[in-house]
Amino acid sequence: MGKLFGTNGIRGVPGRDLTDDLVTRVGRAVALRLGKKIVIGYDGRISSPHLAQVLVDAITSTGSDAYLVGLAPTPAIQLFIGKGDFDGGIVVTASHNPPEFNGIKVMGANGVEVPRSVEGEIESLVERNGGRSGVSLGTAHRAEGVIADYINSILAKVDVAAVSASNFKVVVDAGNGAQTVSAPHLLEKLGCKVARVFCEVDGKFPGRGSEPVAEKLTALMEKVKHEKADLGVAYDGDGDRVLFCDEKGTVHTGDRSGALLVDYVLSSGRGDTVVTTVATSNVVDYVVKRNGGRLFKIRVGSVDVTEKMLEEGAVVGLEENGGFFYLPHQPVRDGAMTTALMLEALAKWQISLSAAIRRLPLFHQRKGKLKCPEEAKAAVLVAVKEEADAETDETDGVRVIYDDGSWVIVRPSGTEPLIRVFSESRREDRAEELYRKYLRVTKEAIKKVGKK
Ligand code: MG
Repeated sequence: MGKLFGTNGIRGVPGRDLTDDLVTRVGRAVALRLGKKIVIGYDGRISSPHLAQVLVDAITSTGSDAYLVGLAPTPAIQLFIGKGDFDGGIVVTASHNPPEFNGIKVMGANGVEVPRSVEGEIESLVERNGGRSGVSLGTAHRAEGVIADYINSILAKVDVAAVSASNFKVVVDAGNGAQTVSAPHLLEKLGCKVARVFCEVDGKFPGRGSEPVAEKLTALMEKVKHEKADLGVAYDGDGDRVLFCDEKGTVHTGDRSGALLVDYVLSSGRGDTVVTTVATSNVVDYVVKRNGGRLFKIRVGSVDVTEKMLEEGAVVGLEENGGFFYLPHQPVRDGAMTTALMLEALAKWQISLSAAIRRLPLFHQRKGKLKCPEEAKAAVLVAVKEEADAETDETDGVRVIYDDGSWVIVRPSGTEPLIRVFSESRREDRAEELYRKYLRVTKEAIKKVGKK
């Protein structure tokens, strides 16, 4: 058996590689490793209720008790696990992957994804088919009040009066995903007028797909302009990531909106340490430095960001894909918490999102990806490094750093047979030049490795 856990839990196509047999083994292994009380929740995918039931049966077969949340955003399930008296939990989700996929994320008693070492232990239990059966069967319970608790916990972390006084109008694009059941209600409690786009849960993600990328968010952009809204928000399938659309209808990257929030959190004295990844814009470095803070740039992966945040006591973590982690709430990505924090920042600053974004220095980026078989990835990176004409950093893939502050990263995807190429520079032509160069170098390396 190959490595079961990728960058972000276990992913596969139910019935094909994510079979009931494998899911049963995983459920049993999780219960045997983590303990007596295991929470199970899921996103809005068509196969999710079935896989959750397979897990409930597997867990109770070991003698542990299962607590079924049902449909909820991943961060709501994580909060429920962390706040309650549980030994861990499982979230059935494939986040932003296409509809035919599903996946499994394993959380510890604190509601945070288990560390890589525990994933390894679960993997070996899965290979041994989950060990013994329980002497007696466990009980399946229904978990209640999860969404209400989630919303109240977020409200307790922001200045509700300040946000309400601003009378914001917000357009929510849930992408037919799990934030449908919470984000609109949270916003109403924050005194916002709410307009909705793709706020019907549908596992086929017919609206704009489950991955929020600017090119696909045209319905949101149009609605923001048409409604003369102050803000638009677009969540991914399981609701842990968010991209923001300003009042002019422009969608901003996760690194730029995240940098704004870092500026807000650090300048309001809530902490000084930030964790991000080597694929994130230098705009974050700029903001952290300006506030006299500490920044850690680590390998890509939300589990790694969480681990580093807890290790360093970081108040904030962020990813370029719209993942934002706010420790006072929970040290994991949370699309709804991030939305509330953005509204608080705009309310306190008394400024529009477009104006707030304009205050940040402009960094130009280019992003692309190339198909690359899993087994060729390592050799391709070696070949790319040989072609590098400046200082390199190998925290994750190969990052080439130039004296003028420009950089390129060539990085293997942890979840798909792809290699990603990102470039960034203060000059647009330079970002383009570096992007083209490394795209070519990577393409040639993939071809060369394939011939061997
Ligand atoms: Mg997600």
